[in-house]
Amino acid sequence: MAEESLHPSPLLPNFARADLSFERGEGPWLFTDRGERYLDFGAGIAVNALGHAHPHLVKALADQAQKVWHVSNLYRIPEGEKLAQRLVDATFADTAFFCNSGAEANEAAIKMARKYHAVNGQPERFRIITVEGAFHGRTLATLAAGGQQKYLEGFGPKAEGFDQVPYGDHEALKAAITPETAAIMVEPIQGEGGVRSVPPQCLRGLRQLCDEHGMLLIFDEIQTGVGRSGKFFAHERAGVTPDIMTVAKGIGGGFPLGVCLATREAGKGMTAGTHGTTFGGNPLAMAVGNAVLDVVLEEGFLQRVERISLVLKQRLAELKDRHPSVIEDIRGEGLLLGVRTRVPNVEFAAAARDEHLLLVPAGDNVVRLLPPLTITEAEVAEAFDRLDRACARIEAAKKTGAAA
Ligand SMILES: *Cc1c(COP(=O)(O)O)cnc(C)c1O
Repeated sequence: MAEESLHPSPLLPNFARADLSFERGEGPWLFTDRGERYLDFGAGIAVNALGHAHPHLVKALADQAQKVWHVSNLYRIPEGEKLAQRLVDATFADTAFFCNSGAEANEAAIKMARKYHAVNGQPERFRIITVEGAFHGRTLATLAAGGQQKYLEGFGPKAEGFDQVPYGDHEALKAAITPETAAIMVEPIQGEGGVRSVPPQCLRGLRQLCDEHGMLLIFDEIQTGVGRSGKFFAHERAGVTPDIMTVAKGIGGGFPLGVCLATREAGKGMTAGTHGTTFGGNPLAMAVGNAVLDVVLEEGFLQRVERISLVLKQRLAELKDRHPSVIEDIRGEGLLLGVRTRVPNVEFAAAARDEHLLLVPAGDNVVRLLPPLTITEAEVAEAFDRLDRACARIEAAKKTGAAA
């Protein structure tokens, strides 16, 4: 394409990037190198949970940077022991493994589930049931777990050991269980798949099935966790807990950080030498993770997320009423909200970007709104105005198109 040849890039062309670059951020705002201001309702794909340049996070990172950055996991890392203890205290888990990304946390979860059955004397139990529309990452195993053909294409044989069932089909799920099944792995709300919530009774049903069949239940809360859904973790609303849970994105507030949490029982096979990571859980990452929890676990923080979520949902419902030819449906929980559009979702996201509002497309023709959890009512009102103008722009273009 002409534009590409004008701006040859040394980067691998595996991302379709918008021609925008930001040099500074503050709360929910991003500033381009041309001095333009964008309202960031994408938050680096649910990563910048506390917005940009949050003073507490900046200080935690800078303070730690003066002390020690990295020591490897050959030694104890007190900041990591502290963060693990806080996660254990606030969840079902007894133990935590730190790594650098979501996919890496899921790899740990998959290995842990297989190892659990192996040390129980059932090494033949290595298969994991996943759900259609899932997204678990881009490594070879997590791609196989996600099962999306478009991502698997051309990368050789799909990794063995994953059985996918249609979304919401409890009977198909039951039928997929065999003596080789080790675990069921689901996102309580599918993020990339189009902001599709698994109903609480289904999460409870999965727990029951796992208990009946001696399988482990794995929740992928990489996108839904750390307050994004309005709860600390999205599965809390169902009143059941998993055996293993993966967390990334928001937990680092922008610093690469992933965690695989587990009960002592589920993690019992992962003894010294069975798994590892060079960078995972280093002091810099641990300092930032602790700082994120300082804010998210503060009294009243999650209640505030729930309140602002209601405000945003009401505004989106109003937007749907005002622009029924553009917006079909509003979905999601907390500040993981989706708008299903009647025009191609990427067109909708582009129209919003023209109004200097950043959104993130997802599957099922949905556009995600993932603002920082610290968003205010005034900023929600600002986003509404921009969305309203974007919808009007799309309607106007439709009319012109129809007339032409
Ligand atoms: C983003 C995401 C992943 C992958 O995380 P990476 O850090 O990109 O490897 C896995 N599962 C879910 C649910 C995600 O949203």
